[in-house]
Amino acid sequence: MDMTADADLSTVPPAPPEEIDVLVVGAGISGIGAAWHLTQRLPGTRFVVVEAQDGFGGTWRTHRFPGIRSDSDLHTFGYSFKPWTGPPIATAAEIKAYMGGIIAENGLDAHIRYGHEVLSADWSSVAARWTVTVRRRDSGAVVVFRPRFLWMCQGYYRHAEGYTPSWPGMADFQGAIVHPQTWPEDLDTSAKRVVVIGSGATAATLVPALAGQCAHVTMLQRSPTFFRTGRNAIELAETLRQLKVDETWIHEIVRRKILFDQDAFTRQTFENPEKVKAELIGAIRALLGPDYDVDTHFTPRYRPWRQRIAFVPDADLFHAIRRGEASVETGEIDRFTKGGILLKSGTEIAADIIVTATGFHLSVMGDIPFSRDGAPIDFADTVTWHGMMFTGVPNLAWVFGYFRASWTLRTDLVADVVCRLLPHMAAKGAREVEPVLPEAAKGLNGGPWTDPEDFNPGYLQRDLHRLPKTGPGAAWRHSQDYWADKDVFPAIDLDDEALRYG
Ligand SMILES: Cc1cc2nc3c(=O)[nH]c(=O)nc-3n(C[C@H](O)[C@H](O)[C@H](O)COP(=O)(O)OP(=O)(O)OC[C@H]3O[C@@H](n4cnc5c(N)ncnc54)[C@H](O)[C@@H]3O)c2cc1C
Repeated sequence: MDMTADADLSTVPPAPPEEIDVLVVGAGISGIGAAWHLTQRLPGTRFVVVEAQDGFGGTWRTHRFPGIRSDSDLHTFGYSFKPWTGPPIATAAEIKAYMGGIIAENGLDAHIRYGHEVLSADWSSVAARWTVTVRRRDSGAVVVFRPRFLWMCQGYYRHAEGYTPSWPGMADFQGAIVHPQTWPEDLDTSAKRVVVIGSGATAATLVPALAGQCAHVTMLQRSPTFFRTGRNAIELAETLRQLKVDETWIHEIVRRKILFDQDAFTRQTFENPEKVKAELIGAIRALLGPDYDVDTHFTPRYRPWRQRIAFVPDADLFHAIRRGEASVETGEIDRFTKGGILLKSGTEIAADIIVTATGFHLSVMGDIPFSRDGAPIDFADTVTWHGMMFTGVPNLAWVFGYFRASWTLRTDLVADVVCRLLPHMAAKGAREVEPVLPEAAKGLNGGPWTDPEDFNPGYLQRDLHRLPKTGPGAAWRHSQDYWADKDVFPAIDLDDEALRYG
């Protein structure tokens, strides 16, 4: 007889709360980075990483659509401490293998609890600890952690489902409607006409991956996007490898070169946007030929860098269009029909499968209810200190990466501050630390997390009001500028009056 099947769970005593130093939430690229920094820089720290999913990877585990790959290079999307030896644009599988190597080489598995979803977090002023309730996916049991410090690495979007706008007639469509974030494993695209709605990095990945694997794939966009193309290789890395230079050196040198070039490019986009625009569009014109309507389909209306510029390795998207396996339609959707999509222009696109590559639901702190001594915390009412800590929220740091540079660069920089802050607190005998606005700034209305004039993708525009606010001066915002932060972060004075210890 199976005793476990009949066991009455209500009689099983709950596990006692685990008192630890640090709880890391999320085992994506940020959480694994945090775990590595804690083991290397603060050995002996009692820490646990909780991850809702059944394995590590975060974004690279959640997304399983055909062709899933990075849109930035892995020398900078990889960590500073582990050489990346493959081609710069990598598949999700390659990124997970890289992360898996770090976990195995550093024994990080001992700290990670998979299938553990954080349900709530309450700060106790008396105990100077967080009480974090977590649900185990296997048993449904709720377990409690009582960490001194919370390191939020839960990303910025809801993992359970993507964002799909609602269009008239969706219920009439007789084919399948699929969001790339929840791609059905058994979806058969062969001999099907597929329409991918969107033209961001996800669409630019999916379209070449589906081209040739289905009857035809159409990328349907409301308005065009900027793309960069080039060989999926870095010449400098190839040269250094020919010279038998050590991979650790190659990683560092190539990182510096990429960051140097990106800095120059970003500056150009601000200082000389028309020139950059002409170069980007000119490269696409050269790929698609003189008869292609680049003006309609690949000439964006916004400034380069107002949205992330996706890199298209080996120009595969454009080759698929040239081969006739893929095409682009630019226009507004009027409605879905039985057999496809009707545009406001009157054009109807026939489809068997419609893929809505229309983005994410922003998630602020994993949508976890936070409180302080039982009183709810609304992060929209807080002001951020350097985009990593928040007024009114003690002992908590969040990794929110860069839009115009690889996310992981920020992971390493935030880790640097946290790994200085924890021993600093210990040395001071402090149990808590909290950013406090200068007296003159208290009561002023904070600005938005990002300036919509500067960077305005849909998912941020929709939910900007839910994100923390900015305050006066550079310390009270997320700079979104890696090239400034790389000097500012290591020099942050932890005894600055912006931080109050208790
Ligand atoms: C398809 C795609 C491609 C991208 N390509 C790039 C790129 O090339 N370069 C780049 O810089 N950025 C890219 N990004 C942005 C990307 O999300 C980040 O770069 C990075 O992967 C985020 O890492 P993260 O660890 O901070 O968060 P995530 O990858 O989002 O991981 C967060 C983890 O936290 C877990 N979690 C969330 N809530 C809870 C909870 N309540 N309890 C427990 N666990 C929880 C999630 O399950 C998840 O595993 C891409 C994003 C997408 C969607």
